[in-house]
Amino acid sequence: VSSLLNRSRTFKVLVIGDSGVGKTCLTHRLCAGQFPSRVEATIGVDFREKVMEIDGEKIKLQLWDTAGQERFRKSMVQHYYRNVHAVLFIYDVTRPASFSGLTAWVEECRQNSLGQDIPRFLVGNKSDLRDPHRTEGQVNQDLATGFAKANGMLFFETSAKNPPSKCVTVKQGGGEVPYQQ
Ligand code: GDP
Ligand code: MG
Repeated sequence: VSSLLNRSRTFKVLVIGDSGVGKTCLTHRLCAGQFPSRVEATIGVDFREKVMEIDGEKIKLQLWDTAGQERFRKSMVQHYYRNVHAVLFIYDVTRPASFSGLTAWVEECRQNSLGQDIPRFLVGNKSDLRDPHRTEGQVNQDLATGFAKANGMLFFETSAKNPPSKCVTVKQGGGEVPYQQ
């Protein structure tokens, strides 16, 4: 009986986006509770796990922290999307090219998840680097909200280095949901 009670449901979460946007730091922050002092470039895929309790139920998140530019991605990519429960599309809010780069990642997801309706999230990372006195060279939040809506994603900005104490998730149909850390 106790093994039944301790059993947790596992959710596979795929973390993708251009190289350097902070995928490894974000998954490290979630699983280890801190910003890593140094990170190695990811080769292929790294796995990290986070067990959470939601409404009294144990939930295990199995995070697939992938590398963007590796040559062997093509041969691995089908494994990434097999039985996936959620996809996080990460970009760097201070690097517009990483936002434009999302088009290719969304397309990769579309091609590899045919027939599955996977919950998808758009995540603007490095919000700690946002300069409120500057607009160019940063990804506009309205633009990101529009992209998320057009692609049926939930959107939020965050920082692996200095997480906002409270951030706001924008729902698909508009409206805001407070997000508790
Ligand atoms: P990945 O290639 O997407 O896995 O990116 P990494 O997690 O390796 O991070 C790339 C670089 O961005 C590293 O130098 C990190 O220290 C830095 N970085 C990652 N997340 C943040 C963040 O939220 N804020 C700041 N300021 N730097 C970050
Ligand atoms: Mg990495």
